[in-house]
Amino acid sequence: MADIIQLLPDHVANQIAAGEVVQRPASVVKELLENAIDAQAETIKLLVKDAGKTLVQVIDDGVGMSVTDARLSFERHATSKIRSAEDLFQLNTKGFRGEALASIAAIAHVELKTKQEHEEVGTTITIEGSEIVDQDVVVTPTGTSIAVKHLFFNIPARRNFLKSNTVETRHIIDEFQRVALAHPSISFVMYHNGSEVFNLPQSNYRQRIVNIFGPKTNEKLVPVNEDTDVLKISGFVGKPEYAKKSRGEQFFFVNNRFIKSAYLNHAITAAFDGLIKDGTHASYFLNLEVNPQTIDINIHPTKTEIKFDDEHTLYAILRASVKHSLGQFNIAPVLDFDRDANLDTPYDYSNKSASTPTIEVDRSFNPFDAEKSIAPSRSNMGSSSFSGRKPASTSSWEGLYVGMESKGTKSTQDFSEIQFESVESTASLFDDTQMTSKQSSYQLQNKYVLSAIKSGMLVIDQHRAHQRILYEDFLKYITGKDTVSQQLLFPLQIQFSKQEHDIILNLKNDLEYAGFVFQNFEDQMVEIIGLPINVPESEVSIILEQLISDVEHEVPDANFSAADLLAKSLAKSLAIKSGQSLNQTEQDHLVNSLFACKDPNVSPANRPTFITMTVDELDKKFM
Ligand code: ADP
Ligand code: MG
Repeated sequence: MADIIQLLPDHVANQIAAGEVVQRPASVVKELLENAIDAQAETIKLLVKDAGKTLVQVIDDGVGMSVTDARLSFERHATSKIRSAEDLFQLNTKGFRGEALASIAAIAHVELKTKQEHEEVGTTITIEGSEIVDQDVVVTPTGTSIAVKHLFFNIPARRNFLKSNTVETRHIIDEFQRVALAHPSISFVMYHNGSEVFNLPQSNYRQRIVNIFGPKTNEKLVPVNEDTDVLKISGFVGKPEYAKKSRGEQFFFVNNRFIKSAYLNHAITAAFDGLIKDGTHASYFLNLEVNPQTIDINIHPTKTEIKFDDEHTLYAILRASVKHSLGQFNIAPVLDFDRDANLDTPYDYSNKSASTPTIEVDRSFNPFDAEKSIAPSRSNMGSSSFSGRKPASTSSWEGLYVGMESKGTKSTQDFSEIQFESVESTASLFDDTQMTSKQSSYQLQNKYVLSAIKSGMLVIDQHRAHQRILYEDFLKYITGKDTVSQQLLFPLQIQFSKQEHDIILNLKNDLEYAGFVFQNFEDQMVEIIGLPINVPESEVSIILEQLISDVEHEVPDANFSAADLLAKSLAKSLAIKSGQSLNQTEQDHLVNSLFACKDPNVSPANRPTFITMTVDELDKKFM
């Protein structure tokens, strides 16, 4: 039989390699920026069009390339950065595989212009899908410009796989920020579709952080500095009170290279333990310097993971120094371990036996009776369909709620498909005695609400159910445009970074329909004077932050609309969480309004909100 093995032609091999190196436009951004840094540039410009799908261009003022090097740079495994395997352990450059340019040239149209300082003229090379289509002499400043156009032009499957422009832009900005943070002494600018997104002059680390994340960041930063034999740490952590709901601002750099490490992240979380609310994340911008011989970065071209020789020691040092810094800035609470806790019991009480705490339930409370409306114990619990749950402080706003009273009443009549055992006929539904004579629901583990129905029982996931309720409410406001707001006594000012501000600006109309009232929408600041009625003032910044992160990570699909995304995000932020205990009235509210929803069966994320268990099924279990 004839031989069947053949060597792959270079351009095929390059395309295959490209699949690894270039996953999306942001990968090109990363590779080109890193090459510019390796070329000792002092100023780096990034130009992007259509989220990088049409153009990614990086212009640097680095050392440039000779004619031969310019041509060689597109060959696979062509690199000026290492010569032997030993060099791998002394790495001071970002690149070393000599793969990036070859890979990019295999799947895009690339235009290179480069000139070395001592040369009069430079070289330009144009490559399309690994083929050199043009090479010439060109007048160009010292340094290198590489323009990558029509990414994936020859791999339609890849092109179609790309996410929406918002998502791809977010990835590009992420890469840009990582590189810019790691190199404050280099000046960076970034333009997207002709407008400036970042302009970062040469600066120190603190200024770089502030220039990227906005002027308000400055007051949040607590410096961390530590210098030991195995590890040098410098950088900042965010004060606990600024902890965020999203993990946006968490950066580790090891020897100036951005890395992700769940393990080291845990060290920071441990240092912040007890200082920040559950579900929020501390910000950090930390540079770790270790001996290059003790790490292995050679894992994968696009991976940001890294292997350390002695992770445990790094963990301990990191945690201790962050803790120390927090303590120095008088942020960590002081614990006095020597004190005998028993001494803290008041003298009078020491001989008394403990009594069981009792819970008081207002059994005469009728949620549908507008006259007797009470102040809710949990202000974010109330869905707007409940006139009875509006905060007492807004009672003078009675007029605003007129439209909603009817909604509240209507909704309670709608759940006819599910018959509640305690209320056999809808006619008696509003009868006080009927309503309270029998416990109709029961909360399990502060997580599920059990409710008896004719055929058995419902087990309702309280968090998902409430999300559904709020989601439909918000959607109704936003799309129906019958807005209800609560006015704030004092305007609320929230500072954003430029991109965050843009996202909010894009959603401004929908936010207004949802009930937000904006007074000022300046530069990087938003001033809010009115809120949707079920949004507590204290949660506003966290809600908007969640919204921004939802927009940034939105997975585009056919059904996507800004209104829908907004309603989903608000519902997610505001819904009661599992772990929250609900009193009888609140449980009943939840059950009733869930079944007043158009689509009570699933949460906005399409997960089941409740399951049923019939008496038959129960009977079977007892057989
Ligand atoms: P690597 O960075 O791993 O060496 P690349 O494919 O990214 O591989 O680049 C190949 C070579 O091209 C580099 O080693 C470098 O010599 C040269 N090169 C790439 N970009 C630039 C640049 N912006 N300025 C100067 N030289 C560059
Ligand atoms: Mg490179």
